[in-house]
Amino acid sequence: MTYDTNNIFAKILRGEIPCYKVYEDDHTLAFLDIMPRSPGHALVIPKAPARNILDISADDFAHVARTAHKIAGAAKRAFNADGITVQQFNEQAGGQAVFHLHMHVMPRSAGVALLPPMSNKESPKVLEDNATRLIAALSG
Ligand code: AMP
Repeated sequence: MTYDTNNIFAKILRGEIPCYKVYEDDHTLAFLDIMPRSPGHALVIPKAPARNILDISADDFAHVARTAHKIAGAAKRAFNADGITVQQFNEQAGGQAVFHLHMHVMPRSAGVALLPPMSNKESPKVLEDNATRLIAALSG
């Protein structure tokens, strides 16, 4: 399987489509999922063009894990979460829908199930508010 440079996250990296950015460094970008499975659901992607865990370098994967670790801690504080679910899918058979590697970081409240994937398109206002909260927690 080859990397498609026209996947939606590649377009976000190139600034061709907008995102609710919460964090960026030399190797990674983190932004909110627009169809969140929980309030504050974020995605962490490498800047390197990798389809998934099967073609990313170990170093680039480690950069993604490091950023996911940072986002998880901030998300717990920002959303007063009881827990955090981290997920990462590989190939269609592995549950992947967008073919640029990404880690999901989902704040969880006790007893509240995740929404089904891509079931609810969140409003811009809620996404803006949640991005602001997460950015504040990341800088705090
Ligand atoms: P998956 O490949 O199964 O891990 O899922 C891809 C994820 O990307 C889903 O949770 C979608 O809601 C999310 N998604 C798709 N398009 C966008 C977008 N333009 N901005 C943010 N998240 C997106």
